[in-house]
Amino acid sequence: MQVRLSKTFGFEAAHWLPCFPPEHKCRRMHGHSFRVEVVVEGPLDPAKGYLVDFADLKAATYPIEQALDHRCLNEIPGLENPTSEMLAKWIWDRLKPVVPLLSEVIVQETCTSRCAYRG
Ligand SMILES: [Zn+2]
Repeated sequence: MQVRLSKTFGFEAAHWLPCFPPEHKCRRMHGHSFRVEVVVEGPLDPAKGYLVDFADLKAATYPIEQALDHRCLNEIPGLENPTSEMLAKWIWDRLKPVVPLLSEVIVQETCTSRCAYRG
């Protein structure tokens, strides 16, 4: 039995996107209430009855949340070009070593815009 579960966290941050055209609105400094969904997937051990403890997922994402919350993302090493795509990969790279069953990181920067990264 294969299962897929996810845990969501949020953070507030500013950014600007240096790779966009000069007149583009995203070139200006602005902020988002980012939502990040972390997905794990794997075979369920029926005797155990769960794949991953949600509390363990929360503990694994907490340092990432702290590193990003109320920051200017451009100032964080590796996020000089902090698009949702680059942010999803940045989170994946930090989470995968401690969450081996990680299968997807979804970064949502507005209610209608999100990016999924699967490694
Ligand atoms: Zn933005």
